Amino acid sequence: MADVMPTRMRAVVKRGTSVTVSQVPVPRPAHGEVLIGVELAGVCRTDIYAAKGLLPCADPLILGHEFAGVVVALGPEVHRFSPGDRVAVMPVIPCGLCRRCAADEPECCPHHDFLGVGRHGAFAEYVAVPANVVHPLPDHLSFREGAYAEPVCAAMAVRKTAIHPRERGLVYGDNRIAELTKRVLHSAGFDIVDTYAEDSATPLETDAYDYVIETRPTGPAFDEMIRAVRPGGRIILKSRPAAPVPIGLRAVLRKELVLESASYAPFAEALAFLAKHDVTDLLGDTYALEDFTDAFTADGAGEERKTFLSCRPR
Ligand SMILES: [Zn+2]
Ligand SMILES: [Zn+2]
Repeated sequence: MADVMPTRMRAVVKRGTSVTVSQVPVPRPAHGEVLIGVELAGVCRTDIYAAKGLLPCADPLILGHEFAGVVVALGPEVHRFSPGDRVAVMPVIPCGLCRRCAADEPECCPHHDFLGVGRHGAFAEYVAVPANVVHPLPDHLSFREGAYAEPVCAAMAVRKTAIHPRERGLVYGDNRIAELTKRVLHSAGFDIVDTYAEDSATPLETDAYDYVIETRPTGPAFDEMIRAVRPGGRIILKSRPAAPVPIGLRAVLRKELVLESASYAPFAEALAFLAKHDVTDLLGDTYALEDFTDAFTADGAGEERKTFLSCRPR
């Protein structure tokens, strides 16, 4: 924590079609907000889509939404945190007014704002966020693990669907989300879960699975998934593609398949999962903020490991 708060900070800023590391003002925490010194931030496909202009975004915009850091200042009316607290943050900022919010499912608020898309995000030395999306980071979790909580939260959402541990399941895709999803299922007692690499030479068995979890949203991938799932089975949608995806609905209807989706589990459950399961083999290199283009390239290309940006003030 800085003794005297700086007034300017480094941040990865998107302005129109250009993305650069710029000096920008340090945000002031508004009413109900917490100012966090960002330690580490993970790079995600959503950040890359935003950087490429594939998603509707605020402009100018500081990118980044997966992060952990240290509380440095509190806005008015925030009593739950103190400067120096280690924290991780859920990037879904709920509206606080809708049915999902009233049902205490803020992570599923359909009217949410999203850090690094609709409002300034975490590829910066500091970020101000509402206190209700800030979670204490357990002492034995590293900032890297804390910054990985949002992908875990997304993977854990599959447990909210109607799939059952005794069914035969498939996670379609050969990437870290697929691997993480498989681990989440195993931890919940789902033992009969295969994974399938989309470039595999062996085609999937026909009508073989009670459910298929999608992590690769392309037309050909959906053709394969629809073929592999049994009649009356489920396809669980997990991806967040930037553009619409063609799905062979005639084949879906012929087999009376159920298409089900699940966005997030409660963020606290993701932190609890990380406290019990070692995922460090899914976590990759850390780059300086200035090298964000290298980090974006590595993350987009590698797929096996999460890439991070070190955001701590120098
Ligand atoms: Zn993400
Ligand atoms: Zn809401």
